[in-house]
Amino acid sequence: MAIIITDECINCGACEPECPNTAIYEGADDWRYKDGTSLEGTVVLTNGREVDADEAQEPISDELYYIVPDKCTECKGFHDEPQCAAVCPVDCCVPDEDHVETEEELLAKQRFMHPED
Ligand code: SF4
Ligand code: SF4
Repeated sequence: MAIIITDECINCGACEPECPNTAIYEGADDWRYKDGTSLEGTVVLTNGREVDADEAQEPISDELYYIVPDKCTECKGFHDEPQCAAVCPVDCCVPDEDHVETEEELLAKQRFMHPED
């Protein structure tokens, strides 16, 4: 499953540079599928949805750092544990029960976003 940032977040910013998928954004910032990935133009996600990787997407939170579920792989394919949770000083990066995925699905997402790694 993806990781989610709870409202305990103190906006310290420590997690953002640690994410290998560029899935973490500052509150009120737009996000893009192409940021930090190999995706560009029209792509079909591993869940079957077609998206424009270059298009700016609405922020998921206007006030706190947030994680894009479509880009989070729980760090699978890069690290043994979620790097955001490892560095967060207030332990507010937790499993997102609304975005449950198997290890295979997470690894497929990682390969889809980073086919050259
Ligand atoms: S678990 Fe890993 S991939 Fe997901 S948001 Fe945190 S650092 Fe990024
Ligand atoms: S490390 Fe934790 S407290 Fe700091 S911005 Fe990230 S989620 Fe928020």
